[in-house]
Amino acid sequence: MELRLYDTLSREKRAFVPLDAKNVRMYVCGPTVYDFAHIGNARPVIVFDVLFRLLRHIYGEAHVTYVRNITDVDDKINDRAARDFPGLPLNEAIRKVTELTGKQFHADVDALGCLRPSVEPRATEHIGEMREIIERLVKGGFAYVAEDHVLFSPQAMNAANSLLPEYGALSNRSLDEMIAGARVDVAPYKKGNTDFVLWKPSKSGEPSWPSPAGITAPGRPGWHIECSAMAWKHLGEHFDIHGGGIDLVFPHHENEVAQTCCAFHQQRMANYWMHNGFLQVEGEKMSKSLGNFTTIRDLLSDWPGEVLRFQMLMTHYRSPIDWTRHATEQASIALDGFQQITATASPEHGNVSDEVLGALRDDLNTSQAIASLHQLASRARSGKYQAAADLRATCELLGFGLKDVRLQDILRRQRSDIDEAQINALIAERAAARARKDFKESDRIRDELAAKGVVIKDGRDADGKPVTTWELA
Ligand code: AMP
Ligand code: ZN
Repeated sequence: MELRLYDTLSREKRAFVPLDAKNVRMYVCGPTVYDFAHIGNARPVIVFDVLFRLLRHIYGEAHVTYVRNITDVDDKINDRAARDFPGLPLNEAIRKVTELTGKQFHADVDALGCLRPSVEPRATEHIGEMREIIERLVKGGFAYVAEDHVLFSPQAMNAANSLLPEYGALSNRSLDEMIAGARVDVAPYKKGNTDFVLWKPSKSGEPSWPSPAGITAPGRPGWHIECSAMAWKHLGEHFDIHGGGIDLVFPHHENEVAQTCCAFHQQRMANYWMHNGFLQVEGEKMSKSLGNFTTIRDLLSDWPGEVLRFQMLMTHYRSPIDWTRHATEQASIALDGFQQITATASPEHGNVSDEVLGALRDDLNTSQAIASLHQLASRARSGKYQAAADLRATCELLGFGLKDVRLQDILRRQRSDIDEAQINALIAERAAARARKDFKESDRIRDELAAKGVVIKDGRDADGKPVTTWELA
């Protein structure tokens, strides 16, 4: 069965055909390392980890190259460096910040069961490649120098009579409409109001490098050029898959395509563009700026990483996810069940389930894959050893080792978190309400208990007196 992937550019699911089956190449935009990552940032990391594992399963471990960059040039990093290491020279302070936050990021995503990518390039180590692409763009007439900036002109790109793609094709926007709708207070050095920065002069207190294109003042790269440079260095001018969150389609990925295709005179940068939907809280995108975020680290102090990974995969990667505690609990219960059924099964005796593989090959349909895992689990529960071994092997493919005994502990801890005295007091209040025939109040108390996950049962004791017992749902 073929692998089909939804491609943002052609807006359809297409059969995946690698440029070179001996070296399938994927680039995913990585984190900007200035603080702990939130669970929304973990979504692309987990989603593309599943794709990486699937590609390795199909093409062989040695035949997939996965590049996920680390963005270590950013104003937020500079601010933190100045704040945390005021005595150090700026570049050293920045390196300290990004080394620390990079390590934190690794620890977090390792705990979420993600494999390390084949290469994790840092922007600061690819300034030479950025300068080279910028030089090519200036020579080709796609970019120009103005007041120590280098700017890319989408209008020059679309005017070029060549094989180049249309600027705006990836994000399905027309350049004319972008020009008409652009802000009026555009920086004075820009010739066109949609021109974007490839390189800019460094202000004092900012990191700086020798500039390209004959500019004498030292400067720093724009954001988009970083990914064009790192993808080129590690995957070449044209590769198979480029991924990231849906918020990156415009302008980041549109601009990456423009830079790479114009620099290397080609029609495509990547053959498949894949974007994960947002992780949301009460209908809003989780983000640092809205303040509605929970860090991966905080969640890991309450839950095993596998539970969070499972929760993430319960939803198809292109749909939005509402991140709720209820869903975390569901994920925990499901995994706990899988762990118990497979405790004595060895993954070496199992085969990866065809149903699960079929679901993954259909544009990474992990919610369908999880439904198939549940079916396998119910066969295993009825005593079929092979089903248990298959479940184990299939969970391993998805990145679940099922070895985390903490699952049991956590469920137990949650039970002990319940305040028994408070529950007994509520039950006594309810009994009093019933005795005075205030059924509205007694129902309200029952609902309050239900909301805490407490189910009550009315019965009679040995002497025939009414008693109420309770248990956790
Ligand atoms: P950033 O560090 O904000 O550039 O984000 C790193 C990656 O996380 C990018 O691929 C973003 O698209 C992705 N991302 C950020 N916030 C969310 C979110 N709430 N849901 C899904 N992906 C996100
Ligand atoms: Zn990028």
